[in-house]
Amino acid sequence: MKENVLRLKRMLTHPKQIVITTHRGPDGDAMGSSLAMMHLLEQFGHHVSIITPNSYADFLHWMPGNDNIIIFEENKKEAQKITSNADIIFLMDFSNIDRIADYSNLVSKSSATKVLIDHHQNPDTSIADIIFSDIDASSTAQLVYEIIEEIDFKHHINKNIAECLYVGIMTDTGSFKYSSTTAKTHYIIAELIAAGADNARIHDLVYDNLSANRMKLLGYCLNEKLLLYTDNNSAIISLTQDELVQFNFKKGDTEGIVNYALAIKGIIFAAFIVEKDGVVKLSLRSKGRFKVNEIASKYFKGGGHTNAAGGISELSVNETIKEVENIINKYTNKLKN
Ligand code: 5GP
Ligand code: MN
Repeated sequence: MKENVLRLKRMLTHPKQIVITTHRGPDGDAMGSSLAMMHLLEQFGHHVSIITPNSYADFLHWMPGNDNIIIFEENKKEAQKITSNADIIFLMDFSNIDRIADYSNLVSKSSATKVLIDHHQNPDTSIADIIFSDIDASSTAQLVYEIIEEIDFKHHINKNIAECLYVGIMTDTGSFKYSSTTAKTHYIIAELIAAGADNARIHDLVYDNLSANRMKLLGYCLNEKLLLYTDNNSAIISLTQDELVQFNFKKGDTEGIVNYALAIKGIIFAAFIVEKDGVVKLSLRSKGRFKVNEIASKYFKGGGHTNAAGGISELSVNETIKEVENIINKYTNKLKN
């Protein structure tokens, strides 16, 4: 870490053209860590652009700096121009170049120095020149804080940076409840609140600001779409594209649904299967030692963490349900105890 921090500090002594990018389907941690990094770098006179592969949930749009973000899918020309002029590209919150989807071609071709900041397992070290990877960090936002601390820039953490990092840590720890939350996480959160992060307001903006349609969709999932496999302590919820249309789906509306299945007494493995834009995506969650990242990478071209992972299926929603059922049966020994 120390050596990488020194290299980074040296690289940042003169104003540079900087691009920050993050994974497709950016979540609170992806956006929070990217925006925090932008607010930090701008203080030193760097020209910073955030380019996301695609758009992200409305409940993140209040974050400071949101209005200048370039969405690759919607503005390819601009993204191409900026990327080809970049001196440095920060890769935030992903460990494999596939996670930035179609934007990966431009990034791979660029001669910019690439800096990876991430907390996922098995980072592909060939995608960056400088790598900050800590799979024990609760979030990429926590890792960004630790880098800022190590680089001796803590006094540069203003309200904007503090709020963005707060969102990243809060969302990736399930509001500080996952086992990745440590004493250090809470210590950092205390520092962020002291630096101006309005914690109550942030929780309200992210969690208690949902559309009626989103709540109805959740109700539908729990009442009509929940499949329980109590013998194997597992649950599946699925949604087709038609069902999303029925509830006037907006990006982010299905986020967190999988956690309700996992909140049922006895359930240690939950899968959420959803068809979006013709792609069937899986969100897998578990409690304890049941490794969903193993299942995601073995069966669904994905990955993630022990208790939270995701991937895609080339089958229909119904066929994917059958496949997950087969997997549940295959893993019955691990699921039963
Ligand atoms: P979610 O279910 O919220 O989409 O994703 C949970 C976690 O699984 C993410 O933080 C990420 O680590 C991982 N993940 C989700 N989708 C994919 C995917 O398509 N590929 C890989 N490698 N990881 C994924
Ligand atoms: Mn993350």
